[in-house]
Amino acid sequence: MNSNFTNDNITHIKKGNLEYITFNILNKYKDKLIHGFFFKNGGVSKGIYSSLNFRILGNDSKKNVFKNIDIVKKELNLSKVYKAMQAHSDNILILDNNNKSKYEIEKLNNEEYDSYVIAEKDISTIITTADCNPIIIYDPVNNVVANVHSGWKGTIKQIYIKTVKLMNRKYGSKYNDIIVCIGPSINKCCFCSSSLEFKKQFTDIWPNENEYITNKENGEFYIDLPYVIKKDLIRLGLKKENIILSEICTVCNNDVCFSYRFLKKQNELDYATMGTFVELK
Ligand SMILES: [Zn+2]
Repeated sequence: MNSNFTNDNITHIKKGNLEYITFNILNKYKDKLIHGFFFKNGGVSKGIYSSLNFRILGNDSKKNVFKNIDIVKKELNLSKVYKAMQAHSDNILILDNNNKSKYEIEKLNNEEYDSYVIAEKDISTIITTADCNPIIIYDPVNNVVANVHSGWKGTIKQIYIKTVKLMNRKYGSKYNDIIVCIGPSINKCCFCSSSLEFKKQFTDIWPNENEYITNKENGEFYIDLPYVIKKDLIRLGLKKENIILSEICTVCNNDVCFSYRFLKKQNELDYATMGTFVELK
């Protein structure tokens, strides 16, 4: 429970039991952008959901999930929080002051979106994850931000590339200016499989597997998803130094992170999720 992830890229904030990280590259714009990747402690949920759980569709009490959201709203001084249904899709929602009322988190809108693009103030969003990659994409020049959910399925669909391209098309965001921060997720140390069919889904898109897959003699292999995302974005034209990985593995750090894989290994039937929040000021 005493991990401290502060380094050159990350500031780890602890307020009692409440803990989250911010990225220093985004903190340079803190007069315009609020963000935080929250760990699992400091909330009110109980049992396997203990305690800062944001998963509304699980068996945790919704009342507690909304209380958890209020804890973060208070901590970051956020306005209302908006959300649709995450579905490992590559659907992107442009959230604005005209359409936002449909997506108030309490309304549990079941339209499927895994990326929110926001160019207006006072619209806060949450991405929930427990091993998948939470990604914040920010264009400080045009003040446009995206909050993105990219697990292995979203990564295969390259939702982060589609989001960057949309920001470019719609808001004129230049690849050179865009900052990308990837929060805690399952890292290569733990993202393991032995299914060749599973592997093929990756190597069909990224044939140079030596770059991001480590094969073990027993047939198991380990995939580095944050690396794949970073490489893809560099290939697209983003600056290497503007893409920052947290390098925090949710499975290895399951004392502070909710991890789907970790809970499945304990034969739990349900799971909890952490929250990544962004809002333009
Ligand atoms: Zn790990």
